[in-house]
Amino acid sequence: GTPLLEVTDLRKHFPVHAGLLRRQVAAVKAVDGVTFSVNKGETLGLVGESGCGKTTTGRMIMRLLDPSSGSIRFEGRELADLSQRGMRPLRRDIQMIFQDPYSSLNPRKTVGSIVGAPFHLQKIATPHGVKKAVQELLELVGLNPEHYNRYPHEFSGGQRQRIGIARTLALKPRLIVADEPVSALDVSIQAQVVNLLEDLQDELGLTYVVIAHDLSVVRHISDRVAVMYLGRIVEIADREDLYADPKHPYTKALLSAVPIPDPNVRQDRERIRLKGDVPSPLDPPPGCPFHPRCWKAQDVCRTTVPPLEEKAAGRLAACHFPESTDGAPPPPPRGGD
Ligand code: SF4
Repeated sequence: GTPLLEVTDLRKHFPVHAGLLRRQVAAVKAVDGVTFSVNKGETLGLVGESGCGKTTTGRMIMRLLDPSSGSIRFEGRELADLSQRGMRPLRRDIQMIFQDPYSSLNPRKTVGSIVGAPFHLQKIATPHGVKKAVQELLELVGLNPEHYNRYPHEFSGGQRQRIGIARTLALKPRLIVADEPVSALDVSIQAQVVNLLEDLQDELGLTYVVIAHDLSVVRHISDRVAVMYLGRIVEIADREDLYADPKHPYTKALLSAVPIPDPNVRQDRERIRLKGDVPSPLDPPPGCPFHPRCWKAQDVCRTTVPPLEEKAAGRLAACHFPESTDGAPPPPPRGGD
């Protein structure tokens, strides 16, 4: 496929100031050299614990945050150095779905004016046309088009997320960044919203980046999954490969925490309890950022950052001692200098 989105060596470092002169004393490396691409019609899951940089990455793609460095190409066009004004024509193409359907909808506005707001902002329709378009959108996301005049509090959590999705679709975006789209919802509702996103993708030819803290949420919707840790991607692979045969110890640990009801996935997995917490991105450990928590860490891990590189066909992982499934010894680590 053709990449719709190409992110290359993207970084976001937040300066930390201190003292009377507010000198910069450090930087929080929230995103520290992230590279991936997403093909047209594809879904990339972006997964990691809170503070791993996944949301910051999503917000930079939306240009809600300016990158410190790196490249974000949308259909080959560089977004990273566009001004907010320069971004404006692209705002229609790239939209975001937020985690919290409660706080992202104005409680004093009717559903009709919430979902119709983008049309008014872009001055692209008459009032009558807006009403009709909004009703079509409500129907598209599985809501009753006659409920146009109701207020957000009259809907359930799942319905409110559908309203948020309808608003997102109003301008016919091509790329949607969905930041924890179902994590505020009851587990029983989550699958319905994930199914809706999949149906909309098929119907409208959408491309998704779905951000989640948990590998179970993105399992069904993703074609490929990228796992982030302390501002970096530590593993990226096709969904099937990643869930059946994780190469990075961190991915393996994350996976061991979620039940995978799939006959192709080995069920003899033991729950891996990671020691300690995620270190502060203000003071990341030297070498492999995962080494203080990794049960396989060796001397080289404490000194040398493992590059994200191919460990098997189409499988990238950043680890000196990747997991191997066939019992063969892992390839010798590189570097050590
Ligand atoms: Fe663990 Fe070393 Fe691999 Fe890092 S490089 S994940 S510390 S084995």
